[in-house]
Amino acid sequence: MLILVYIIFLTIFAGHLCEEQFCSADNEIKSCKENEIAHQNSLYTKEINERYKKYLVTIQNAEQNYKECNNTKHKCYKDAIVRDLRPFKKKGISKEMIEAAKTRGTFYQIIKGKLYREKDCMFPARCAGIEHFLLKVIGNLSDMDLVVNTRDYPQSSEYFGNAIPVFSFSKTPQYYDIIYPAWAFWEGGPAISLYPRGLGRWDQHRKTLNKASLEILWEEKKSKGFFRGSRTSSERDNLILLSRNKPHLVDAQYTKNQAWKSNEDTLHATPASEVSLESHCTYKYLFNFRGVAASFRHKHLFLCRSLVFHVSDEWMEFYYHSMKPWIHYIPVPKNADQEELEDLIEFARNNDDLAKKIAHRGRDFIWNNLRMSDVIHFWKQLLKSYSKLLTYNPVLKKDLINIRREL
Ligand code: UDP
Repeated sequence: MLILVYIIFLTIFAGHLCEEQFCSADNEIKSCKENEIAHQNSLYTKEINERYKKYLVTIQNAEQNYKECNNTKHKCYKDAIVRDLRPFKKKGISKEMIEAAKTRGTFYQIIKGKLYREKDCMFPARCAGIEHFLLKVIGNLSDMDLVVNTRDYPQSSEYFGNAIPVFSFSKTPQYYDIIYPAWAFWEGGPAISLYPRGLGRWDQHRKTLNKASLEILWEEKKSKGFFRGSRTSSERDNLILLSRNKPHLVDAQYTKNQAWKSNEDTLHATPASEVSLESHCTYKYLFNFRGVAASFRHKHLFLCRSLVFHVSDEWMEFYYHSMKPWIHYIPVPKNADQEELEDLIEFARNNDDLAKKIAHRGRDFIWNNLRMSDVIHFWKQLLKSYSKLLTYNPVLKKDLINIRREL
């Protein structure tokens, strides 16, 4: 605010000087011209500040209220565990509730430090991605039964009866599902031509994205919005349309996915080629949208040190709650039309230092607080807290298979 007042004061003062003085000598003319330019610049700054006041004030408020999460001992996400287990706190989790949950996911048991699973898993690569983490943490855990949903969509809606104890990777606040870190941190993510074995290995992506982000300075990045992905949700359409109307502002195109049948599925355009996550780093503004549920793209975008435009805060993964709008990313309303999208991009283009600051804060958050060790620790804490809610002593069931550590 002080800076704004100072700029306005300078603007008036500089303009006034030039009008009042009789600038006959050369040096006086020069200094008048400089003042004139400064005056124009200040007017421009003032106009920009006025135009984007609502965003600037929101950022200022967000900064005042923001308290960085303390991740010593991996505690950044403990609230997420408390929140998701709250519906089960009063009465606990009974054998009957687990039986009811079984139709919603894959049944696992942890008994005497060993992991067991029902024979069939709907998505074997996803189960493998989940088991990688379970095997890392079961050592000191109490015996427990758990049902893990490997579908994209959550299973226990608050509109349909009581809370069912089922673990899902993503949900909106309208679901009781207990969020766990997605399989794709290790393996089983969407298979696209660039990642034919499925997006995974967050540990490796962290390194390659960090390297890619260091190979290009913020100032060298293209001042454009960017998105590549399939039409898993129509919430992505307006950005694609804006890109078609204003290609100088956005490059957003639909790619094929396995469900693609015709150009209708890519909003009446030929599918675009896929672009690696590392290549996203050459753009300043990267868009994240939900897909069927939360999109795995989210965490990767931040590591580019580009500014993330996160559309809608409905769909969550376990770490999303600890990231704050205007602090770590630009929040975009779910139904933002082309005009709103354009306005937000223009805001970033006209406030480059601020855009860079938010981009770097977002990057630092993910880099410092979403390490593989944080994911492992989250699983451990989650299962520890969950197992305390069981109201019975689990007994090893017949017909389960023992899942062993990969060699
Ligand atoms: N993806 C990518 N480059 C592309 C298209 C997709 O890296 O050109 C990645 C993207 O980051 C996402 C995954 O592939 O994590 C699947 O993207 P898609 O848009 O098909 O589905 P989503 O899971 O986002 O709904």
